[in-house]
Amino acid sequence: MDKFTISKARRTDAIGREVKLQGWVRTRRDSKAGFSFLEINDGSCLANLQIICDAERANYETEIKRLSAGCSVTVVGQVKESGGKGQATEVHAEEVTVHGWADPEKFPLQKKRHSFEKLREWAHLRPRSNTFGAVARVRNCICNAIHQFFQAEEFLYVHTPIITASDCEGAGEMFRVTTMDLAEPPKKSGQVDFEMDFFDRPTYLTVSGQLEAEIFACALGKVYTFGPTFRAENSNTSRHLAEFWMVEPEMAFYDLDDNMKLAEQFIRHICATVMDECREDVDFFNQRIDDTVADTLATVADRDFVRLPYTEAVEILEKSGEPFEYPVAWGENLQSEHERFLTEKQFKCPVIVFDYPACIKPFYMRVNDDGRTVRAMDVLVPRIGEIIGGSQREERLDVLERRMAEQDLNTEDYWWYLDLRRFGTVPHAGFGLGLERTVQFVTGMSNIRDVIPFPRTPGNAEF
Ligand code: ATP
Ligand code: MN
Repeated sequence: MDKFTISKARRTDAIGREVKLQGWVRTRRDSKAGFSFLEINDGSCLANLQIICDAERANYETEIKRLSAGCSVTVVGQVKESGGKGQATEVHAEEVTVHGWADPEKFPLQKKRHSFEKLREWAHLRPRSNTFGAVARVRNCICNAIHQFFQAEEFLYVHTPIITASDCEGAGEMFRVTTMDLAEPPKKSGQVDFEMDFFDRPTYLTVSGQLEAEIFACALGKVYTFGPTFRAENSNTSRHLAEFWMVEPEMAFYDLDDNMKLAEQFIRHICATVMDECREDVDFFNQRIDDTVADTLATVADRDFVRLPYTEAVEILEKSGEPFEYPVAWGENLQSEHERFLTEKQFKCPVIVFDYPACIKPFYMRVNDDGRTVRAMDVLVPRIGEIIGGSQREERLDVLERRMAEQDLNTEDYWWYLDLRRFGTVPHAGFGLGLERTVQFVTGMSNIRDVIPFPRTPGNAEF
């Protein structure tokens, strides 16, 4: 007899098979005719499997009739064709073994629907709900699609450090890493003496793997890093986490145009893979969470992204007559309301804004001939706004040094980064895609806290 997942047992080709299934009870219903229906779920797919248990089972009265939501069971039985709606198969149980009970008075996930806010307090149980099971499967599918894409394009997967001494030029506020006694840190002339700390210098959790990825791109060509990223910003928005996952490809001999092309193909590939491999979950999100999700995925898959210079974006926004909360002006960052206007109302598809003012961008972005703008790009998508930020990097040593001086950065701290420009420098480019914003985009989930298993936000680190 074979161990089957519910996903497999729901298919018609399982009919006639003797199977063993293991999972958790979602519901039990007793029929007057002397048997019971169980709905069980094992996470292999969104749908449950119906199990029919008749009264002849030895533990029918003592156990089966006491089963309730959350109990764990092993069911052995035969897969049969089902007459029921929404299911091709069902299982007629020969044996039901109960592993763990779940007191219906105490188990929180009863039939009644709970708000996502409430479910966040039960992060240890929410994966057992339909929505969070679906999010977990889609997130997994996206991660797999990310690796597939880059591996097929012959990128090398490299691992950049999580603990770092460089701050990637203010990509965000940083968390400190230290083993010093905070109550009594060692001091030298009144200041905390970081030379006494574990790494002999101040260190932080990384805000980006870009600078280190550049090292590998400038030796091996095309690389990507994919890992946890940390930002200590105190921003309580539906699109920011203190700990999130970022994919950062970095390519030697790529200019901004190549970079935009790659970003577009990459997002397309992710959307196409999710539509292909998670159809049932996408349909669920479309029905229950956001009825534009399926259309959006289809649009992304077959329409070119709009490419829009920042200066033109500002003109469009100024002329739009929209009552924005934040004013629009050349030289200011686009706010999320501006980004959403461009993708949702103006173009109704993803938009790549590029050539941003140098004054709002970091030192490493390549300066354009106009001297005022840099080769930056942001990919904006409906509902989310920025999902990717990237640029062509400055490969000219003198320009890079000048930009660092303008931004009051100490060139000695970046000696190794500057060495890349001293020895065999090449044009290169890269970008960072936020994994959680991608999951939000694909599922329609409106709060980023609901697309990562254990969200870290100001004041929240339970679980
Ligand atoms: P934003 O302006 O939206 O705060 P950013 O410009 O600071 O983002 P980048 O430094 O460009 O972000 O990071 C690249 C990508 O990483 C972003 O496009 C986004 O998808 C993701 N990202 C950045 N910050 C966060 C965060 N705090 N939580 C989740 N994802 C994030
Ligand atoms: Mn950005």
